[in-house]
Amino acid sequence: MFKGKVAIITGASSGIGKETALLFAKEGASVSLVARRENILKEVCEKIQNGGRKALAVKADLCNPEETKKVVEQTVQKFGGIDILVNSAGIIASGTIKNTTLEAWEKMFMINVTSVFYLMQLCLPYLIERKGNIVNVSSVTGLRAFPGVLAYCASKAAVDHLTRCAALELASDGVRVNAVNPGVTITNLHKAGGMSEESYAQFLERSKSTHPLGRVGKPEEIAELILFLASDKARWITGVTYSIDGGRAQTCLR
Ligand code: NDP
Repeated sequence: MFKGKVAIITGASSGIGKETALLFAKEGASVSLVARRENILKEVCEKIQNGGRKALAVKADLCNPEETKKVVEQTVQKFGGIDILVNSAGIIASGTIKNTTLEAWEKMFMINVTSVFYLMQLCLPYLIERKGNIVNVSSVTGLRAFPGVLAYCASKAAVDHLTRCAALELASDGVRVNAVNPGVTITNLHKAGGMSEESYAQFLERSKSTHPLGRVGKPEEIAELILFLASDKARWITGVTYSIDGGRAQTCLR
């Protein structure tokens, strides 16, 4: 499906980004893998190369604009262009309107929103040249409000609107921009955001009842939707924020 295509995938050292990278490579894409943990990135890279596909590991902290520029430079240098950008890198943290510090708010927005905006902008000349597309990994929290994760929810709502606005602005260039909005998915996100093993186990158990289909998601399932949206099968789809959440976005307390 992706033979001859070049994809940049952020957050490729873990969870949704990693599964997306493996799936894209399986479908024939050359993948540029981005994250901070170089040793893990290299493992993913080797796995892909051992399967006969092309991969490049680019260690970068996407909060740093200079490192972000290098992601694009190194990808173009190695593979000659860019067809697809998947923005999956992200963080979560607890906090309410009462106790979220300005520093915590800014950190959340820096990685979850600003880095997405900047990488989209940097990739644009290449995406326009090849009539490529962008898939941003948002969240059910972008579409619905949840208490206790204020900055995260606001950051994902910003990603959704960034997606919609960019889609309209880039449509005449032939570049599509879409987002996926997963419900709770088993990855390292929540534990990296400060949840203990015990709290995470309880959270996953409770999530069975908060997601109408009765279970949480797997990163491979989110990767399948990203693959579809990034593929030519979705050639008439742009500006969507596509829920993949076992029905959660449709629920309302009663
Ligand atoms: P993981 O924690 O498993 O993966 C997050 C990835 O982001 C890692 O590869 C991490 O790599 C990377 N990352 C974080 N900060 C930076 C940074 N400053 N620079 C570069 N890379 C960074 O979580 P998920 O796979 O779950 O998260 C992927 C996306 O999915 C996120 O945007 C998240 O908000 C979204 N999502 C997740 C849900 C879930 O329940 N899991 C639900 C809805 C949305 P490294 O640490 O090596 O830098």
